Amino acid sequence: MARSRRRRLGQNFLTDRSIVARIVAQLADRPPRVLEIGPGRGILTTALAERFSRVLALELDEQLLPGLTARLSGSEAELRHADALVEPLEPLLGDEAPWQVAANLPYSVGTPILRRLLPRYDLLSRLVVMLQREVAERVVAAPGDRGHGLLALERAAHAEARIAFHVPPSAFRPRPRVTSSVLVLDLRPPTFDADELTGALKLAARALTMPRKMVANALRGAVPVVTLEAAGLDPRSRPADIDLGGWVRLLRAVGNG
Ligand code: SAM
Repeated sequence: MARSRRRRLGQNFLTDRSIVARIVAQLADRPPRVLEIGPGRGILTTALAERFSRVLALELDEQLLPGLTARLSGSEAELRHADALVEPLEPLLGDEAPWQVAANLPYSVGTPILRRLLPRYDLLSRLVVMLQREVAERVVAAPGDRGHGLLALERAAHAEARIAFHVPPSAFRPRPRVTSSVLVLDLRPPTFDADELTGALKLAARALTMPRKMVANALRGAVPVVTLEAAGLDPRSRPADIDLGGWVRLLRAVGNG
């Protein structure tokens, strides 16, 4: 297969079965339904089907489908040719919700797929997903940590998260250039309503273009110091140190100002 195509589809296939077993072990016993994104050649899919009664796998690359179908024949796993970035989830999962998710996500679209799944606590319970380590660390970062930014704030709105373990390039073919990490995310209903969350993240995004500056300077011309203080924020704090609750309070203070 052309290298550029493989890269576009993020195709680094797992070959280390002990890593596959460790990924499967991060899933909870219930619900016994697992959605897999990007089954590839099926190494994770077959392991999932050994443990769970219902496995649904979405694969974008139609060239992989014949091989996958052959490998999964005789197992309970169901395969669909679909793009996980756009496939409507409600008709696919709604009747049997909730589901867990397992995926060795393609590097090329790992973050947008994760962003799409995060708010779906109505359909999904636990996500066990592999991403490149640098991205996984940004997902779990706490305020003040290196890499704490929009992705961590979005995650904090929707899930508890931890890195379960790291995976070296030698576990894949072809080998990626970077280390990967397996993330476990437990989705929960958001603490803030959707409009408030959108507004708070917009404010945060604006300030986080200058994460190391004082927030008062990062938002100069947009939010006066008195409003920052009314929200209980130290105007000298840095945008990267402010948690989601702080951005929501600031949005409310701006609205009241
Ligand atoms: N699960 C397999 C494994 O661990 O060996 C393959 C993982 S590989 C990193 C990512 C897989 O996702 C590839 O099979 C790729 O074709 C598929 N893929 C890429 N983009 C996708 C998308 N938008 N929707 C569904 N599958 C996608």
